[in-house]
Parts: sequence; structure tokens; C-alpha cells
Amino acid sequence: MAKAGFIGLGQMGKPMSRNLMKGGYDLKVYDLSQDAMQDIVKNGAEAAANAREAAVGADVVFTMLPTGAIVEQSVFGPCGIAEGMSMDAVFVDMSTILPEETRSIGRRLAEQGIAMVDAPVGRTSAHAIGGTVTFMVGGDSADVARITPYLECMGQMITHCGPLGAGAVVKLVNNYISAVTNVVTAEGLAYGLAAGVSEDTMVEVISQTPAGLGHITTTWPAKALIDDPAPAFQLDLARKDIGLALTAAAAAKAPMATGAVAREIYNIASAKGHGREDWSTGIFRTVKYLAKGKTDG
Ligand code: NAD
Repeated sequence: MAKAGFIGLGQMGKPMSRNLMKGGYDLKVYDLSQDAMQDIVKNGAEAAANAREAAVGADVVFTMLPTGAIVEQSVFGPCGIAEGMSMDAVFVDMSTILPEETRSIGRRLAEQGIAMVDAPVGRTSAHAIGGTVTFMVGGDSADVARITPYLECMGQMITHCGPLGAGAVVKLVNNYISAVTNVVTAEGLAYGLAAGVSEDTMVEVISQTPAGLGHITTTWPAKALIDDPAPAFQLDLARKDIGLALTAAAAAKAPMATGAVAREIYNIASAKGHGREDWSTGIFRTVKYLAKGKTDG
């Protein structure tokens, strides 16, 4: 039977490791917390005294830990994973950490002949319990193929995003968009409430528009994603509408801090000649240009 090591048995790691066992894998586990260990050992996992021991004899070693520094310590620290792993095993970090931290750990492991895959996780602990988390995976195709049956026990929608670190990049992009949209949604609804409109009414309307549905599946496919500037909705009109919202919100003393920054991006886009283009294409062209660090053009 294939063997796995699993380090980090918290909110996510505990149910995920349980699902791995249910999938038929022999599991050796390690966590700083004895309580966390006991639970999963009761379910049939073998307790390790440290990360190195959890890695000995495993075909795949997983970490699900809070930070990059802790993952690094767990791999390269005393009694760490790197001391215990065999050369033909694969190390899989599923924690949310910086892409550069991932690549640095991967480079050091490669010097010892050990392969690494990053597989950060989407969704929440409820999905970890149900075995329905998603995985954004980075690494060599052969390594990714090798660990996929393990991931399939813990989740669904396994996306190979590119080389090592690409999973971490996509995870950050996703969480950035999601977290910032959360703030903008709060700003919009708080202004509407202050202006006397009910939450239910706003939710009814916004649930049917790009504001509620998200741009990536509504406005972007026909415009920004194929770089088509022909306007379905002109950038300068969207710029005007942000201005109207900021003016009305200021009168109601409702904060629109994120909107104020967004208007500056619209101003830059307009000043650079994108004002008559489609709002999605014009904004994407502008921000891609800025992201390359160019100062003119
Ligand atoms: P958690 O704090 O519940 O669990 C972390 C576990 O790691 C704890 O049991 C802790 O005792 C253990 N630990 C800490 N240092 C250790 C070490 N040196 N050796 C062994 N064990 C150690 O965190 P979590 O919610 O399970 O999150 C884990 C990772 O998954 C994080 O990077 C988080 O950002 C990411 N994530 C969390 C969620 C979520 O909904 N909770 C969703 C997606 C991704």
C-alpha cells in the first residue's frame, strides 16, 4: 500500500489527512499539537515524533502549515522532512505561502535530488471535511501526475498551473481578487444602505450583473481576454459612473476608499488614450502595461 507522510493537522490538515486515509493510503502524521495528533491517530494513522520520522518511508510527504517560514523550518530544520525523505519520493506543500518561498524550498530540495510540487488549496475547512477542496498545482508534469491520485482523495478540480510556484501564484491571484472584491462590495452596499435602499433590493439587482457575478465570466471573455477594444461599454463612461458614486457617497459620508483608488486607474487609462475603448479591455491593457514597470508609451 502506498505510504504518505502528513505534517500540519490543523483546521485543514486534519480532515484532509483523514480523507487521504479513507482513500486507502497508509499515513504517518506529525503536528506540534499532541491533541491534533491524537484525533487522527485514533482513526488509524501512525504518530511520528517529528517531521523527519513522518517522512521516512513515505512515497509522498505533505505539509499543510501556517506560513512559509514554518514550512521551511519543517523541511530543513533539525529532524526535518529533508533528513527523512527518500530520493524517489515527492514533497507536496499545500500551505498558502509566497511563490518565491516555494521556489526557494524547491531549489534546495532539488540539490538533494528530491522533487517538489506546490498544491495550495481553494475553499474552506468545511470543504476539507467533505473532500471537496480545490488544488492549484505547480511542478513537473510527471511529479504532478504521480501525486494526483492522492489529491483526488482530498478534493476535486485539480488544476496544473505551470512549473513549481505557479500554484502559489494562482492562489494569490484568486485570493487577491476575492478579498478586494469583498471590500468593494461592502463599500457599495454600505453607501446604498446609508442612502436608504434596502439590502434585499441591492442584492436582487447586483446578483444579475458583473458586480455580483464577477467580471471574469461576464464582461471579460468577449473583450479583455481577447484584447478587443471595441466598446460594449466605454471606459470613460465607467469612469464617469465611479465619479458619480464617489460624489454621492461623500455626501452620505460613506467611505469608498477602494473606489477612489480605482478611479485613479481609470484616470490613468483615459489619459493614456484608452477612454473610448471597452472598459474591461482598456483597464486590462493599462494595468498590464503598468505591471511591466514601463513609465511611458
Ligand atoms: P491551522 O492553524 O488550523 O493549522 C496549522 C497546524 O500546523 C496546527 O495544527 C499547528 O499545530 C501545526 N503546526 C504549526 N507549526 C508546526 C510545525 N513546525 N510542525 C508541525 N506542525 C506545526 O491552519 P489551517 O487553517 O489548517 O491552514 C493551514 C494552511 O492552509 C495555511 O497556510 C492557510 O493559509 C491555508 N488555507 C486555509 C484555509 C482555511 O479555510 N482554514 C483554506 C485554504 C488554505
